[in-house]
Amino acid sequence: MDHQQLKELDNTYFMPTYGRFDVDIDHGHGATLYDLSGKEYIDFSSGIGVNSIGCAHPRWVEAIAAQAAKLGHISNLFYTQPGARLAKIMCERSGMAGVFFSNSGAEANEGAIKLARKWSFDKYGKGRGTIITLKNSFHGRTAVTLKATGQEVFHNYFYPFPEGFRYAEAGDMASLEEVSGHDVCAVMLELVQGEGGVRPMEKAYVQALSALCEQRDWLLIIDEVQSGIGRTGTFFAYQQYGIVPDVVTFAKGVAGGLPMGGFLANEKCRGVLTAGTHGSTFGGNPVSAAAALAVMEVLSDETIAAVAEKGAYLRQKIAELGLSCLGDTRGLGLMIGVEVKGERSNKELAALLIQNGLLALTGGKDLRLLPPLTITREEMDKGLAIMAQVLR
Ligand SMILES: *Cc1c(COP(=O)(O)O)cnc(C)c1O
Repeated sequence: MDHQQLKELDNTYFMPTYGRFDVDIDHGHGATLYDLSGKEYIDFSSGIGVNSIGCAHPRWVEAIAAQAAKLGHISNLFYTQPGARLAKIMCERSGMAGVFFSNSGAEANEGAIKLARKWSFDKYGKGRGTIITLKNSFHGRTAVTLKATGQEVFHNYFYPFPEGFRYAEAGDMASLEEVSGHDVCAVMLELVQGEGGVRPMEKAYVQALSALCEQRDWLLIIDEVQSGIGRTGTFFAYQQYGIVPDVVTFAKGVAGGLPMGGFLANEKCRGVLTAGTHGSTFGGNPVSAAAALAVMEVLSDETIAAVAEKGAYLRQKIAELGLSCLGDTRGLGLMIGVEVKGERSNKELAALLIQNGLLALTGGKDLRLLPPLTITREEMDKGLAIMAQVLR
């Protein structure tokens, strides 16, 4: 099958939910990918932050193959080794007390929302189910997580929505006070807004928000679906903010490319969701868990510590290119936003880069870069050279 044939097949049978670029990807190694014709691409996207250890890492491939040959799936009514071993590592690296595994980020957030509401119900009874989220946030595509997402553009067509969310201005404590009330049980936020354009929160704001949560007895839920699992230079981004959340959600990078998500809770919250109140058929599936265990091994503390340097290197080199269509960079670790200036939109720039062999993403009105955390200096330099050549 060549590119044209693949495109025709795809366009005939898929629902038109994705505005795909005119590129196919067939295989790869690390942060270097190839299309059906053998053309090379440098990957500054990792499939939207998912391929945290790059494409086809040998340990990851081996772990998946071995687990698939042994036991691909059994229900959550039984104990299995990969899930239990992963649960321990996730708790140890986050400092949390318990974990629930789901299959995606939206499901992880939806579970965290259920946890917060039940925690409040158990303690205070009915009428305290509202969750405050931030404007410009992104929390997922299910009905509840879309409602939690503080961007009106996502809400257009899908009324009626479930109730129970109010939105505060990001970085603004006064706005948080304005939407607070006796019906609130939790605040949920990203520490670095991803889809909203890679916008890190100020440390002072996050600490003030955390203190307010404590004072009002609201749970603090941090959505680390994109920022978690080493992406920002620590296992979770909150570990750089001097706060301890009650609940933290994760997904994208955790299993290095297989579907997995979940949420961790502290001691206070780990017992809230009991048998019959939450669950998932596929959640924590042994093959996904085995893949995640390989990711945990590859993403050693040293590898994660190197993420900050790699991010700083990329941002410095991009600034040095002095391209007139790009402005300032911002972000944390290998979660990088690059301001887009001038006539061409971020989507046009991304399409240009992709056509010319560099996979990049958009976020908000800007470019967003999420390379694999294991990307090499050589791959970064190749990507930067494409950027320089194409955007000059
Ligand atoms: C991607 C993302 C989600 C949704 O994850 P899915 O796996 O697509 O459901 C939720 N929150 C944040 C912060 C994300 O970046």
